[in-house]
Amino acid sequence: MKTQTPKIAILGAAESGIGTAVLALKQGWEVFVSDKGKIADKYKTELLSFSIPFEEEKHTSEKILEAELIVKSPGIPDKAPIIVEAHKRGIKVVSEIEFAARYTKAKLIVITGTNGKTTTTLLTYHIFKKAGLNVGLGGNVGTSFARQVADFNYDYFILELSSFQLDGMYEFKADVAILLNITPDHLDRYDYELQNYVFSKFRVLQNMDKNGVFIYCQDDSITADYIKNLNITPKVLPFSLNDEIQNGAYIKDNLIQFNIQPDPFTMSIFDLALQGKHNQYNSMAAGIAARVWDIRKEIVRESLMDFENIEHRLEFVAKVHGIEFINDSKATNVNSTWYALESVNNPIIWIVGGIDKGNDYEMLTDLVKQRVKAIVCMGKDNQKIHDAFKGIIDQIVDTQSAKEAVKAAYLIGKKGDAVLLSPACASFDLFENYEDRGRQFKQAVREL
Ligand code: ADP
Repeated sequence: MKTQTPKIAILGAAESGIGTAVLALKQGWEVFVSDKGKIADKYKTELLSFSIPFEEEKHTSEKILEAELIVKSPGIPDKAPIIVEAHKRGIKVVSEIEFAARYTKAKLIVITGTNGKTTTTLLTYHIFKKAGLNVGLGGNVGTSFARQVADFNYDYFILELSSFQLDGMYEFKADVAILLNITPDHLDRYDYELQNYVFSKFRVLQNMDKNGVFIYCQDDSITADYIKNLNITPKVLPFSLNDEIQNGAYIKDNLIQFNIQPDPFTMSIFDLALQGKHNQYNSMAAGIAARVWDIRKEIVRESLMDFENIEHRLEFVAKVHGIEFINDSKATNVNSTWYALESVNNPIIWIVGGIDKGNDYEMLTDLVKQRVKAIVCMGKDNQKIHDAFKGIIDQIVDTQSAKEAVKAAYLIGKKGDAVLLSPACASFDLFENYEDRGRQFKQAVREL
């Protein structure tokens, strides 16, 4: 009989790793934390305060592979040598979400999709909070899920899940799962096969039983096609902008119809706090998830009306001499930029560029023709953007910083125009991350 304390190795010592360490310790595991990079001081202090052994700037295989369970940060690919070796030896490798879910009885409402996850997660959380429920928020946003499982006793959790987190989940069972959309992204981690990425997203359904609810976007062709050949156990409640939905939500004549029995209700799309078609989807998804738990419709309506937008997502910055400046720095792929261009009604001076993850700009051509009057490229290498739009837009300029880009856009702009930063690209060529890019943009606007 095994009497030894079970050993767990945690790879990656940022928010999710440290949260996992704290929870594992509390649950009686012998914990070892290892990070191939440097560990931030605040996390080091925390590990020391709990006397949890750790290492940084290396992975010592012998120590890690002694564990019977490895929890890996979603940033570490499955092909990393230490993970390959762990698999060879039959050591289980899971994500923080999988591990932490073992230790909570809370109802789990999870949100995944290529775009709109954070917005929908925060929106859903806002409704649950406003309804007075004892609810936690986790996954990719804020404090780690594991840490909250260790420290609080919530009845509900609203969790944002990326495909990387889903890849490390096996026994996790959602009570409500929202799948917002699937468009090609992160394919470098999926052997450049869209199908693998789709499988990954659909892991959200695994283990769900007939008491569960699956909420998805019926207008999303990849999701809709995949579902055709799937036997889905939980109840399904789709949402759509195109079709009337019997059980779920849809929009007709500018009214959202929440068709959730036994108590359907409607609200005007003009009352939504978050504007734009993509946010109509996000609002429908969050509203359905709330009605599933019988949150009063007045509360759902009010919450969808008074939600405060989050930074870097179609965030209004300022109006300078009649020119509006909008920060959508979080748009790091073509699909999310499509929605941004679609939701701005004024003539647009579009700031775009950065590190291209294999973008195909063709899906933007029609919208750019209709709405964009000039393009300001902001990136080290802008050739692809020039090639894609040179026949369509007369004025395309190159810049290499947020300051230059804002200045150039301002000089082109006239009263009634909108300057939209929606880069469709990652930010690492000129910025630390998308937040840094968004903040520098806002700063430059304020300095005009
Ligand atoms: P994620 O967490 O999935 O990256 P966010 O909520 O942070 O998504 O939004 C990122 C960007 O994606 C936003 O700036 C917006 O332009 C776009 N977006 C938001 N919701 C959707 C949606 N439902 N469909 C497509 N694009 C969206």
